Amino acid sequence: MNVVIWARVSSREQREGYSIDAQLRAMRDKASREGWKVAREFVVAESAKRGAERVAFNEMFDWVKRSARKLGIDAILSHKLDRVCRNMRDAVRLQELEDKCGVKLAFVDNQFGPGAAGMLSFNVMAAVSQYYSDNLRTEVLKGKDEKVLQGWLPCGAPYGYANCDDRDEPIKPDPEQARAVARIFELYSGGNATFRSLIEQLDAEGYTYRNSQRRFCRTSLSYILNNRFYLGELIWHGRTYPGRHKPLIEHHVFQACQDILSGKNRRKNGRSDAPLAGSLFRCAYCGQSITGERIRRKLRGGGVRTHQYYRCANNTPGHEHPVVRWRGEDLEAAIISDLEAMRFPEPDQSEWFRESLSKAILDAESHERRQRAMLQKRQTELQGMQDRLLNAYLAGDVDAGTFQKKSADLKAEISRCRDNLERCGDIGRDICGDILTGCRDICRDISEPCGDISEACRDTKKSCGDIGKRRRDIPAGRRDIGNRRGDSAVRLFDWSQQAASLWRGSNNHERRQILEAVCLNRTLSDVSLVTLKRKPFDVLVKRPSVQPNRGDKI
Ligand SMILES: [Zn+2]
Repeated sequence: MNVVIWARVSSREQREGYSIDAQLRAMRDKASREGWKVAREFVVAESAKRGAERVAFNEMFDWVKRSARKLGIDAILSHKLDRVCRNMRDAVRLQELEDKCGVKLAFVDNQFGPGAAGMLSFNVMAAVSQYYSDNLRTEVLKGKDEKVLQGWLPCGAPYGYANCDDRDEPIKPDPEQARAVARIFELYSGGNATFRSLIEQLDAEGYTYRNSQRRFCRTSLSYILNNRFYLGELIWHGRTYPGRHKPLIEHHVFQACQDILSGKNRRKNGRSDAPLAGSLFRCAYCGQSITGERIRRKLRGGGVRTHQYYRCANNTPGHEHPVVRWRGEDLEAAIISDLEAMRFPEPDQSEWFRESLSKAILDAESHERRQRAMLQKRQTELQGMQDRLLNAYLAGDVDAGTFQKKSADLKAEISRCRDNLERCGDIGRDICGDILTGCRDICRDISEPCGDISEACRDTKKSCGDIGKRRRDIPAGRRDIGNRRGDSAVRLFDWSQQAASLWRGSNNHERRQILEAVCLNRTLSDVSLVTLKRKPFDVLVKRPSVQPNRGDKI
């Protein structure tokens, strides 16, 4: 008799000293005692990667199915039933293997007899195996949840802590690592460290990550700096629980690091002096991106001065390509004047526009309401006419030809009416359309720079913050905009009037967002900056019909 050996050990059994080798030995002994020939051995350890066991089982199953006839395989030999089949599905498949290919199951410890009784014992064993495995799983999960509710992490503690046998405090700070964690947060919260400089400094100060990898790496730093466990919190399955382990980091330090990680407050004192980069501007001649560079010049007196330049990144420009090179200050001035272009020069002009804008929106809305009411009334009338026509036809007052013609006419008009009703929202949209379409896109983009503006612009901050809030209020469907849209448009207008001063008070991260919110692209020639404004900012720049006219105000 030819057999295939299938060996499996769970991770728990491995810990308890049952090894694959022991299992294999038992099976080989059994095979030689019975005089069976082993065709092939399949081995899998459950501690291997999740899913590996299933893959191995399928591999074994397919191989046996394929080679059963060719090699004359009679049985799969395993230690116990729960080694070879862990759920009803496996049991069914194995049964199928026996029916089709004549491959039976053989065990070192228990053997089933032939016939219905054997089948029943097999099924019962399979069911018990599955129950055992399911039960184990729920028990383990229950135990873990319980531990979380008690305030303890039910798995390996993160860097900075150690798991220990103490029942009262199973997770304690590891003195060495805890010092490293504190140092990492301290250095990073200063705002001047990059991951790279942090790695160097930690190395120089003698902190180590782990024995196998002594230097910290970006991944480990990012993981540590983002881990709320150090605050004393427990995150388990996406929910936060109060932890009972000792926190290592204070809240404000952690928050400072989060701000830096998310690109805010890169430097505490003043804004970043790094150039604006990342294809924010393009060359007007060749389309290449404009790069920023800092050039340090030694002064005669011994000091150093840094100049910022922006130039076309094209290293092989053609003959016609003029030199595109801007001083940082000049580019900044150009951007500010570009943003200023949206602003009305006189306060009363902007006040007038604001009023007109709200009024136009109100008008559009009341027009829309009137239109809608009219169409709805007409629709009801038409339906009444249709009913009356049908009654007349049934009463014999109208002949079939007339009825059909009239009925078709009425149906056509009802459907026209319905179409108009559906388009009704568009009328309002046409009037203040550009502003509103832009509004939705822009509100999404500008909410962030407005969330964090320097103190000089604190007054405008409030109204901008509101745009961010509005953002959530503006649903995607245009007809749902409803009466909130006027408000949003007005707020957006207010923001546009402050854009230049917002720019002045923002760091590079925010500046980029402001620019991207306002314009679709920005090209730089040797002499000028040209931007293509998004809607509705383009309207504000052109301002064709908004010259204040005293007559309009009355
Ligand atoms: Zn160029």
